[in-house]
Amino acid sequence: MELLKGVHVIETHANCALLVDDRLVLVDTGADGGAKDILGYLDRIRRKPTDISTIIITHTHPDHVSGLAIVKEKSGAKVASHRIEADYISRKKPYPGPPGIQRHRSIDIDILLDDNQRFEEMLVLHTPGHTPGSLSLFDERRKLLIAGDACQTEEGTIGPMDDNYNIDPRAHRESIKRLAQLDFEALIVGHGKPFAAGQSMVMRQLASRL
Ligand SMILES: [Zn+2]
Repeated sequence: MELLKGVHVIETHANCALLVDDRLVLVDTGADGGAKDILGYLDRIRRKPTDISTIIITHTHPDHVSGLAIVKEKSGAKVASHRIEADYISRKKPYPGPPGIQRHRSIDIDILLDDNQRFEEMLVLHTPGHTPGSLSLFDERRKLLIAGDACQTEEGTIGPMDDNYNIDPRAHRESIKRLAQLDFEALIVGHGKPFAAGQSMVMRQLASRL
């Protein structure tokens, strides 16, 4: 679905975001089968896999990285992640947190991102807690926050992720408090529905209760 003009949400096991300008930026790649969903979606909006210039991975969990090998192969896109997460995504290091052993195909990360860096016209925010190197992306021009699993909306409003899947529950809540300081309208998360407006207020209300 197109949430805002040029901002698409591809529903796989975890949502992927697709930013469509003169070039395409994909955020996350779904679980097994995610690549098929992404390639099918591109076909429906009449774009080619090779139109994707960059794939940004928010974190190393299987429902966000399992489609990566195929989408990278088909697109030839560069892959970016937070510096801390890169060795888990490429499987150079075993991931120490839940849900356990990783099985996705290893893919080298081309671009290592840092907190507060500008990348693809967005602000990169290191939002640890769900995983050590989780990142969120703030598109100021569109007033859009792409939060990955820094929070979720599965109960119809913003909440923290289930702590069974957080490597550091306290840091996870601190990251939500940081995101609550941003001024955005639209929100895309990995799990739960996306929203087009009014979300930094909702995030602030949540942060005040944490
Ligand atoms: Zn996750």
